[in-house]
Amino acid sequence: MNIEIEWLYDSTECDQAGCSGGYSTGAIVRQDGTTILELIPAASCFGGDSWDREEVYKALILTLLPEVNLSEY
Ligand SMILES: [Zn+2]
Repeated sequence: MNIEIEWLYDSTECDQAGCSGGYSTGAIVRQDGTTILELIPAASCFGGDSWDREEVYKALILTLLPEVNLSEY
């Protein structure tokens, strides 16, 4: 099985005083050429859609092994 992770970045600039805009990350994951995860980042001033590397790997584990009951302490 080949797993390919394409890391994605999105940023936005903002003209409003006091706002530094936003920065988001995400990834597209392919298994043997087929897209199995699409976590598309969308930056905005108020958070937006973003997945850090831990969240991407966790989503990947649960996508590849849906029967896994993942607990964290
Ligand atoms: Zn803004």
